[in-house]
Amino acid sequence: MTKIIRVSSPALTSTGSVQVQGGLCTIIRERQPNTPVKARNRHRIYPNPLQRRMLARTFGCVRVVFNDVLRLRQESYQTTGTTTSITELQKQLITQAKHTRERWWLAEVSNIALQQSIQDACLAFRNFFQSLKGKRKGQKVGFPRFKRKSNAQAFRLTRGGFSIRDNGKLYLAKIGDIKVRWSRKLPSEPSSVTVIQDAAGRYFVSFVCDVEQIEHEAPNEGVGIDLGIATFATLSMGEKVENPRILQRQLKRLRRLQQSLSRKVKGSKRYQIARRKVARLRARIKDTRTDFLHKLSTKIISENQAIVLEDLNVSGMVRNRRLARAISDVGWRQFRAMLEAKSIRYGRDFHIISRWEPTSQRCSSCGKLGGKQSLDVRVWMCLYCGAEHDRDLNAAVNIKQAAGGHSEALNACVEQRRNARGGLHQSDSSAAADEARTRLEVEQFSLFTC
Ligand SMILES: [Zn+2]
Repeated sequence: MTKIIRVSSPALTSTGSVQVQGGLCTIIRERQPNTPVKARNRHRIYPNPLQRRMLARTFGCVRVVFNDVLRLRQESYQTTGTTTSITELQKQLITQAKHTRERWWLAEVSNIALQQSIQDACLAFRNFFQSLKGKRKGQKVGFPRFKRKSNAQAFRLTRGGFSIRDNGKLYLAKIGDIKVRWSRKLPSEPSSVTVIQDAAGRYFVSFVCDVEQIEHEAPNEGVGIDLGIATFATLSMGEKVENPRILQRQLKRLRRLQQSLSRKVKGSKRYQIARRKVARLRARIKDTRTDFLHKLSTKIISENQAIVLEDLNVSGMVRNRRLARAISDVGWRQFRAMLEAKSIRYGRDFHIISRWEPTSQRCSSCGKLGGKQSLDVRVWMCLYCGAEHDRDLNAAVNIKQAAGGHSEALNACVEQRRNARGGLHQSDSSAAADEARTRLEVEQFSLFTC
């Protein structure tokens, strides 16, 4: 079934019309000019030993307050079935607690950090309940988790709790002036700062600033991106980006360090040192991956006016244990988040097409469905028009085309899909398993092609 739909936005086609096949379903985030954008700016800081001790104390107090909120809300919900308001929580857990023998040390750290911690805990609850009621989009949010000392630590200060000195040092309330390595200038006056200590023991600050939308004309109209494991991204223009396999390369070292950690007595000095070593390597792997994803997403955004991705059920796939490491390693989710954020910043159209769209089965030249291809087929020929296709490239072209017919086709497509499936939707978990299997076999096959 094929129909022609007039498209008002010239973002995807220069002719103004686009061929749309049945069964489309896309979620589109159209660009909005002059949207105020908040951006994070991360810089490394170097506190002196005294400041480190004060930071540790603040992390600790913030953690205690957060956990107190969780405990109190849990209790009051179980006993009286009511929730406690933020003001009441602040009074009980900060103001009054400071005068008790168990919590007197809360007075030693910044009050703003403690208040922000209560707000974070309440937000975690709100997200949980909204998700429970189905009012929240995206992944299910679990019950708020208690914060632990062994994880990365953070606290946030709003205006009044910090300032940037003329000499470039950062003043934090009750901690003092800290040396910052400014990797770039802040785009505007920051509205808040988050101080972070990662598991590797490094300190960072992350400022939230308002940024202006970047005016930049892209040379290309739009790009469809097919994400995979062996080839990280295939662009509809024909470009392929190999997966750098960052974790894979360090896996031997990581295993050795983890083994050495497991032999140490828990809590001992040697254990702490070994734990740091593991954390440091993990941090390096993560940084390298983030760097790769940032460079690629910036390149794609600066070259294209519209970006189209396929909606992948990443959490479903990660649940497949054989695949989990490979998928966590490639970082699709992080990549998608970066593309989305940068689309807003650069004023681009960002499209996500449904994962039900048979992007790898359809011939991108004539639009006919070729049926399910065996997964080891990397190159195939269309029986209807004779076009020869690279599997990933064909999918990328289809992904790009699928975004063209969203607005008119959305409702029709839901109906069509329902009919096509005999009124039944494939459950999410089986779809996840499907997708997982696909990716696994693609990867296995790549051993022979690459
Ligand atoms: Zn064809």
